[in-house]
Amino acid sequence: MVDLTGKTVLITGASRGIGESAAHVFADAGANVVLLARGAEAIERIAAEIGDKAMAVACDVADYGQVEAAVQAAVARFGGADILINNAGVIEPISHLDASDPEGWGQVIDINLKGVYHGMRAVMPIMEKAGGGSILTISSGAAHGPVEAWSHYCASKAAVNMLTRCVDKEARDKGIRAIGLSPGTVATEMQREIKASGINPVSQLDWSDHIPPEWPAKCLLWMCGPEADSWLGDEISLRDEDIRKQVGLT
Ligand code: NDP
Repeated sequence: MVDLTGKTVLITGASRGIGESAAHVFADAGANVVLLARGAEAIERIAAEIGDKAMAVACDVADYGQVEAAVQAAVARFGGADILINNAGVIEPISHLDASDPEGWGQVIDINLKGVYHGMRAVMPIMEKAGGGSILTISSGAAHGPVEAWSHYCASKAAVNMLTRCVDKEARDKGIRAIGLSPGTVATEMQREIKASGINPVSQLDWSDHIPPEWPAKCLLWMCGPEADSWLGDEISLRDEDIRKQVGLT
């Protein structure tokens, strides 16, 4: 297992699902964990479960000022920002493009795309000054193929994949490791929303088709180690059996 003693990880969308699991996995690996989400109560509860090494900062990633303040709070408390996990994301409002609500569509871009940019923009100068860091971003199969009624989500994830590539181009030589993770379908609240929509083939999947959130969480930890360096500027798919083996999931 990767040992992150003394390192600090910031996890967006840490109030449930993949982000909550990642908070526990990274804490178990010795890291200081900074949990970000809009819902203060949930992240405070999870931080309390983890203990002294954890801090909850209520933050809407769509607002750059809030993200920057959260990063500064992490640095003030733990002395650095070594790993950023861009995990916060939404899928609602699920809707066909020709009937979509422009405001709701734009809000998904504000969270899923601009939220990732905000995190990158806020931590990169700190990581560069420190000689490096890892920026891990949750991608999706939807970044690469259109899915009915998910135009907002597909567009946001495709753009986020390009952000990872841009960070790698500009900052790999400054020690920044930018990698995406496409987890496959995961048993979280997001999949409940997808199922409730009943619109596309993803909504028809059985709950048992989804992997548990601990799997992407463990993969994210593995991605902090040198074994993942061959994916810098690229995306790892957790559907890949070989990756599952390397992460120790099968
Ligand atoms: P959940 O719905 O369980 O969790 C989403 C998290 O994002 C919550 O903690 C939520 O907290 C947070 N969040 C949402 N909006 C904001 C915001 N504006 N600012 C800060 N935090 C926010 O989803 P998952 O765990 O499934 O999703 C995590 C990531 O994985 C997402 O990027 C998603 O797109 C991606 N993904 C998920 C898949 C799946 O099958 N589940 C498949 C592929 C990718 P709060 O509401 O308190 O702010």
